[in-house]
Amino acid sequence: MDNGEPEFGWREFTTPPIQHEAAAELSRLSSAHSEAVEDARKHLAELSASRAEAGRLREALKEARRAIGDHHAPSDCYATGPLTGDPFRDLVQCPACSFIAMYDAALAGEKPVGAEVGTPEQRARAAYHGDTVEEIMAEDALRAALSKSGEKPTATRKGGG
Ligand SMILES: [Zn+2]
Repeated sequence: MDNGEPEFGWREFTTPPIQHEAAAELSRLSSAHSEAVEDARKHLAELSASRAEAGRLREALKEARRAIGDHHAPSDCYATGPLTGDPFRDLVQCPACSFIAMYDAALAGEKPVGAEVGTPEQRARAAYHGDTVEEIMAEDALRAALSKSGEKPTATRKGGG
């Protein structure tokens, strides 16, 4: 050997630099890949947290919209609403109308509140009678409960139903 010692066992060959470079590159790529996977996992977790938050906010908005219910300007408009501190809004703007406008803009493209409630037949009857689908469903549930118990349901609707 170079140092004069006798050679035994495995002979060590010097490897060409390109192999070291390739090994270093492989290890660099592998750790870069692990970092990318870790980043992607983090982003995925953040994304799903934002989705959950957006879902909660959307539910809160829908609940508020449901609380306002049918609101037709100007007959349903509030004379005074909760004060906002904005003199224009507090004086002339109906808070329900303003909320509904914001709600419609924010949830544009989503199905209107109550659209997926009930059967298509119940929705058609609700539209025909000018009732909410919830009222129709409550009435149907009442009728079903009464007919089970053998009682005759009294007509709850003008003109029969
Ligand atoms: Zn209004």
